[in-house]
Amino acid sequence: MRRLSIILAAIAVIASVISCNSQTKTSTEDNKAKYVFLFIGDGMGSTHVATAESYLSYKAGKLGGEQLLMTTFPYYGTVTTHSADKHITCSSAAGTAIACGEKANNGTVGINKDSLEIESVASRLKKDGYKIGIISTVPINHATPSAFYAHHDDRGDGYEISQDIPESGFEFFAGAGFLEFKGKDGQREPTDAFLERNGYSVSYGLNEFRSESMNKEKAVFCQASNREESADNYTSGDREEADATLGQMLELGMEFLGTEEPFFFMCEGGAIDWSAHGNLTMPMIENILEFDEAIKVAHEFYLAHPDETLIIVTADHETGGLTLGAGSSTIKWEKLENEWIESGKKSTMDSDENRKFNKSCSIGWTTGSHTGGAVPMFAIGVGAERFNGRMDNTEIKSKILGE
Ligand SMILES: [Zn+2]
Repeated sequence: MRRLSIILAAIAVIASVISCNSQTKTSTEDNKAKYVFLFIGDGMGSTHVATAESYLSYKAGKLGGEQLLMTTFPYYGTVTTHSADKHITCSSAAGTAIACGEKANNGTVGINKDSLEIESVASRLKKDGYKIGIISTVPINHATPSAFYAHHDDRGDGYEISQDIPESGFEFFAGAGFLEFKGKDGQREPTDAFLERNGYSVSYGLNEFRSESMNKEKAVFCQASNREESADNYTSGDREEADATLGQMLELGMEFLGTEEPFFFMCEGGAIDWSAHGNLTMPMIENILEFDEAIKVAHEFYLAHPDETLIIVTADHETGGLTLGAGSSTIKWEKLENEWIESGKKSTMDSDENRKFNKSCSIGWTTGSHTGGAVPMFAIGVGAERFNGRMDNTEIKSKILGE
């Protein structure tokens, strides 16, 4: 009898432990989406979004009212962006703040202002059993993507940053090749050979990826035009046929990771920033439209899995001090568009000429650098309401994790 009561008591204790565990688990699962898409438009201020929508409205024969998919999302916020040591952030400090939830000094990736390595939301989710995809239209070891997997005191050390990829264990990387492909002196082991030696299948172009990498455990997609070199192809006019758009890279990544396990994708429209640095209005718009097309890929997935998916779209900082309107209240869209088409989609003007030309179309650019204004945040899906209103970029990580 005594033995029976001991057994019953033991069962009761075990049952309470199990129910306690399952309660904890359920509340975590309620807060955290199974499938997470984080889109970062590098340099994409609110005015960049408004300018792209003004262009879409012009194409529809209207003064306004046309929308990108991102601005139709139900939750909207603004994000403050200063870094640990500057009013105006750079992409590596902002990428680190978004990824790791802590302010960092300009020029550093994945470390805080005390030089300590900090964990990115991607690394944290990897530990929780998520598969991870890191995608960009610019090089994979550029500032924003590297903030999700690397820890380094100088964003300029592209070769060393690539060497952090194997330790991340992330399953999928895609982008426009690697900066410093063979090191600063061009004499080191090629980055693709290093990655192959460390468990990654590296392919160039969509066809090669499908035939060589699709059935592997970990893989890297590079644009076909970046074989053996760093990337400077950031407008559609620079791309080869075998290259992929941001949306195609995301589709490839989703096919590669599958849906059985939870996943996290960081998808960067990196070339929005590059064209904004050059004060190039039409390429900047093209890059935002490409970015929005990639968001459509995620949104289709959300529509099929609405109770398990979170999509958030934001930026790391504004680039160019863009104004929609610079003297005249009419934007000369036809003039802007014609110049871009006639140039063969390659800007031939220097920055001064370019700025004057843009002003003559009533588009203002005040700098070739970054600015410190708040950037937009758009969200839809599980936990999207947490991204409403004003926030700092260091709050994004915990909002994704539902903490
Ligand atoms: Zn930039």
